Amino acid sequence: MSQSLIVFEPSGKVLHQVNNKISPFNDLIYSIVNDSHTELNPGFYTTLASQKRFYALKKAGIYAAVYLDVVTTLDSDKVRQCLLDVLRTYTVVTEEDETDSLKLTKLIDYQFNQLTKLKTGAAVTEKAPVAEKSTKPEPKEKAKKKGAKTMRKWVNGEMVEVQESSILDYSEGKGDSTDAFSGAEEAISVDNSNFQRRDDLVLVSELQDILGEESDEDEDAPKTMTSTFFGKVSSYFGGAADINDVSKKFYDQLISKNIAPPTATAILDKIKANIGKKSVTVTEFKLVLTEELTKTLTPNVSTDLLYDIKRNSAGKKRPYVISVVGVNGVGKSTNLAKLAYWFLQNNLNVLICACDTFRSGAVEQLKVHVNNLQRLNANSATESKIDLFEKGYGGGDHVVNTAKLAINHAQEEGYDIVLIDTAGRTHSNAKLMAPLKKFGDAANPDKIIMVGEALVGTDSVEQAVNFNNAFGNRRNLDFFIISKVDTVGDLVGSMINMVMATRVPILFVGTGQTYTDIKKLSVKSVVDMLTR
Ligand code: GDP
Repeated sequence: MSQSLIVFEPSGKVLHQVNNKISPFNDLIYSIVNDSHTELNPGFYTTLASQKRFYALKKAGIYAAVYLDVVTTLDSDKVRQCLLDVLRTYTVVTEEDETDSLKLTKLIDYQFNQLTKLKTGAAVTEKAPVAEKSTKPEPKEKAKKKGAKTMRKWVNGEMVEVQESSILDYSEGKGDSTDAFSGAEEAISVDNSNFQRRDDLVLVSELQDILGEESDEDEDAPKTMTSTFFGKVSSYFGGAADINDVSKKFYDQLISKNIAPPTATAILDKIKANIGKKSVTVTEFKLVLTEELTKTLTPNVSTDLLYDIKRNSAGKKRPYVISVVGVNGVGKSTNLAKLAYWFLQNNLNVLICACDTFRSGAVEQLKVHVNNLQRLNANSATESKIDLFEKGYGGGDHVVNTAKLAINHAQEEGYDIVLIDTAGRTHSNAKLMAPLKKFGDAANPDKIIMVGEALVGTDSVEQAVNFNNAFGNRRNLDFFIISKVDTVGDLVGSMINMVMATRVPILFVGTGQTYTDIKKLSVKSVVDMLTR
């Protein structure tokens, strides 16, 4: 089967490649240079050459491109999303540490494998819309037509034809006019089987399968002891060995899973101190490490949050206020919308407050989410309501005033929860971080949730610490939501980095781009992944 992926500069210089097959891409580069390709979306090209279908996506001056057998039928939207993920991965990892080619290869290989699995119809992390499970209110003319339908949309000031999409990527139109967010017309895919019912509560299920997926090559191979890290290290030492030597092997393993070097050192120093002897077997060491990692990740908080909110509603105090913070592009508004959907399923009334009054397009982006959620809610058996509260754009006290007005409005109109979106900001820029304290003091949220990306490695420590400290001495973050876990395979170390640095628990992980793509963390499977 012929397929490959590269990341390259407009000059033709290849920055990263999956497989060694670069030469076929000459046909694609030729078509781009000679303008003989088709532009499917702005910056997203396709061409056909030498029995291959090529796709290329250009963003921030670099291209990611794939080719697949010409007989392959794959929704170009899925290809585009994969290339977007790949470019983002490339940028994040190389900005963080341009020498970490192993991490880059692992992440991009994983993303490419996910795409090629879609092609072969194998089980994949990305769910195809499932007709019988979907509660989407399909307009009759759209029902049953999958994938290839095109629609018109304003993007960057021009009308373009795009493929109908069920994902929640409204970031394309950021910074444009409201029309860019005409996604409200699109079909919405949700899979309520991601939730479980217990008594009268709808609960988010535990993450089981996604993280454990293996790459294509490994899929059929039985998991023997010698194929795992643990097996290899056990046979390397043969029996008891110097604890520092054993620790060194585990250090390399933790680093390879995206755990930041200082975090890995801190964990392993603690393990060595706990064991307290010079000689140790790999089994003993792993046992103590497993216990420590499990303890670090364990708090099971999601059910408590729901009870907390329900209790608050019964007490008829002010609405429960949750604000979401994080750096730009990590998935704040998407995951805020996922929370809103979950709350609606629990018959709670939700007011979403647009407090990113800074970035042009942010309010409209939330409007799309709220429209989608209203449509979904109208077609479900719930008795809840959702609306958007916004006062447009502005600086200074505008954010704080908007939040206060929203909370008052919610109280008057019988909303149980106010979900406040905040502007994304660079965690290392003190000037941008400072307003968070003022916002926290004025809105006094019941919970502050930071959305962090699973993709980020070493930088996740500083991100988590800076956001945790941003609200002053008396206030911390309450939870993390770790987004895009579906894009990192078993490189799950960022979770450990963030939790270790702050002791803030993980509420949920984001596993995709639909409103039901949130999961509770399975501590056991994450710890297994880090130590097996
Ligand atoms: P914000 O700028 O932080 O508000 O980020 P957005 O909510 O606009 O999300 C940025 C991009 O990340 C969008 O394309 C989302 O669809 C995507 N995204 C968010 N969460 C996830 C997730 O859990 N998995 C994947 N694959 N994509 C996600």
